[in-house]
Amino acid sequence: MVTREETYSKAFEIKKKALKEKERRYNMMLDSAYAENPRIKELENEQASVGAELVLASLSDNERAAALREHLKAITAEKKLLLEKAGVENIVYDCQMCRDTGYVSGKICDCVKKAAAGIMIAELSKEMPILSSRFDNFDLKYYKDTDTREGNPRRRMTAILKTCKEYVLHFDPHKSPNLLFMGSAGLGKTHLTLAVVAGVAEKGFVPVYGSAENLFLQLEKEKFSSENSGAYDMMTGCDLLVIDDLGAEMVTSFSKSALYNLINTRMLSGRPTIINTNLSMKEIETRYTPRISSRLIGNYDAYRFLGDDIRQQKAVERARTKE
Ligand SMILES: [Zn+2]
Repeated sequence: MVTREETYSKAFEIKKKALKEKERRYNMMLDSAYAENPRIKELENEQASVGAELVLASLSDNERAAALREHLKAITAEKKLLLEKAGVENIVYDCQMCRDTGYVSGKICDCVKKAAAGIMIAELSKEMPILSSRFDNFDLKYYKDTDTREGNPRRRMTAILKTCKEYVLHFDPHKSPNLLFMGSAGLGKTHLTLAVVAGVAEKGFVPVYGSAENLFLQLEKEKFSSENSGAYDMMTGCDLLVIDDLGAEMVTSFSKSALYNLINTRMLSGRPTIINTNLSMKEIETRYTPRISSRLIGNYDAYRFLGDDIRQQKAVERARTKE
């Protein structure tokens, strides 16, 4: 888990280093140009003195100021020519907006925001297959276009995919709804939530994703250790929390209260949460507590995934191509 502050300070650090390196190279080229051609240094000194004279003249003597301006132009042009001849090129900034300082009129430049989002994605992808679970490789062909008693899987999943894309498009850490993805294993719940996580991170928000088992384990470790790992603060304070595979973990009295706490704290602060589960609402109620299931019923938009296990379908496909 990585915080917003960490990604921004890293992004600034990288920018600063790159700019410093560019300036170092420029100064090195400049030094060797001075050594090779003393005229350049002379011109530079002249530029400074004529410039100072011009400031004074422009206050009192228009004619003299005009002449000095012409002179300055000629010096500048000659210097530019000599520098070009010596192979000294002006610094080329990666970002024209902020000239690689990271700030535009006191505000953090978009290039830093973009870099910070990239760092967030890189951090997230260390722990999960975030780059291979995208909307554009979520394949609807695995969902049958036939009407069943529960509905038409293809139509249902097309609608859920659209919901997820729109969720990212309009994501607001204070307004987006809570989502509850239900349905049996292998129907793409993890794939779609990871695509949401990636999309939200690309927009510069801070998501936290984990399996229920892993998240509760981190909370338990933090609770019973002497040092604060920041796990609880990150899970309750991040822009989007995703609890994957709820119900696959061992349910203990600790995990029950941790789950209730997470759901409730985030609800009270108006921060969105997405929960994936293979359990039915009835099973959630019996395995956890009625107050958890009632929170979910009252405050989460539930979506039931339909279809046949995709992992199995893919395994069959692989076996067939080997034959
Ligand atoms: Zn910039």
